[in-house]
Amino acid sequence: MELDGLKYLVVGAGFYGAVVAERIAEVLGKRVLVIDKRKHIGGNSYSEIDSRTGVEVHNYGSHIFHSKDVRVWEYLNLFCKFNNYRHRVLTKHLDEVYSMPMNLMTINKFYEKRFTPGEAKEFVESEIKKFHIDHPANFEEKGISLIGKPLYEAFIKGYSTKQWQKNLTELPESIINRLPVRYSYNDRYFSDPYEGIPIDGYGTLFENLLGHKNIETELGVDYFDIKDKIPKDCVVIYSGPIDRYFEYQYGQLGWRTLRFESEALDIDDFQGTTVMNYADESTPFTRIHEFKHYHPEREFNPKTTIFREFSQFAKKGEDPYYPIGSDSDKLTYQKYLAASKNEKNVIFGGRLGGYVYLDMDQVVTMALNHFKTKIQSF
Ligand code: UDP
Repeated sequence: MELDGLKYLVVGAGFYGAVVAERIAEVLGKRVLVIDKRKHIGGNSYSEIDSRTGVEVHNYGSHIFHSKDVRVWEYLNLFCKFNNYRHRVLTKHLDEVYSMPMNLMTINKFYEKRFTPGEAKEFVESEIKKFHIDHPANFEEKGISLIGKPLYEAFIKGYSTKQWQKNLTELPESIINRLPVRYSYNDRYFSDPYEGIPIDGYGTLFENLLGHKNIETELGVDYFDIKDKIPKDCVVIYSGPIDRYFEYQYGQLGWRTLRFESEALDIDDFQGTTVMNYADESTPFTRIHEFKHYHPEREFNPKTTIFREFSQFAKKGEDPYYPIGSDSDKLTYQKYLAASKNEKNVIFGGRLGGYVYLDMDQVVTMALNHFKTKIQSF
């Protein structure tokens, strides 16, 4: 690994780092070194074949690419083709299976009715009115004000308590905005015009992004081990945790992490769908992923891999997934943000660098924007 004369160093080979590196290599025609602490590229989006079953698994849980942004879609299509997968989620509550996000099928099955869209809306609104929440101040109030208490308690309360392990009145209401409620039979999880899974997997997409002749990738390298050897005029694009960069001087930012129990089964199909949520608190995991269903275009052996997903607080050194974003986290982040503005030649980005929950497409948008505004114009 040659650091002498290096002008661009990218820390982190996830979407943010890989896209910025590709742009530097292709548009600026400059040599760029990408390092990652992990032994693989792709960050949490990485996928690889499970040798036990031949099924491609998403090592860090299901990743479904979806976007509204045609620029991002066209850009990624330069590096991979996407299949036509459309995400649909089911949820188990008291041994019955329902459709998520809540839609007319969910509401009718739950209340054992045959409501039309208008009737369902009227009925749910009457449930909502029972609680008079005009200005929801937290996650729980927001949930009840969107769907009424019975649906909230069946499908949101138990799942979110397992996911966040917090009193739901202490969670920000913004989290629930990710889940729409529909008064139609539309059961698509996402409403974006572009959606799919890379046909050859995320691993190959990242290999293609980083495959440019001007890019050198070194895995298993910790930035903090080489920091002192980096030339002073080298631009560092840092997508690791921002609190780690500043040696936790203002304290640690709160993250939740996920733990997966992987199982290879000698059966063709375990659950008949990619993701089954478990809404009740009595089941310890939040959901089960069955990855072969992400690739209906592939042929498989009569074997399958499933991941049971458990959510827990991220201790130092554990993989961060979801920023908790409590009031004290927000204050701490502001201090790191102010400190980052004084770092000459360092650009912070991505989910970890910005302490923000972002979907994959939003990270690509951020990377393309940062390249234009912060790197190309340097
Ligand atoms: N959620 C829920 N019940 C579900 C699915 C999601 O209560 O069956 C809540 C939960 O609090 C979760 C949030 O909605 O954190 C956002 O869900 P999403 O599926 O977007 O989470 P992700 O797939 O990003 O983990």
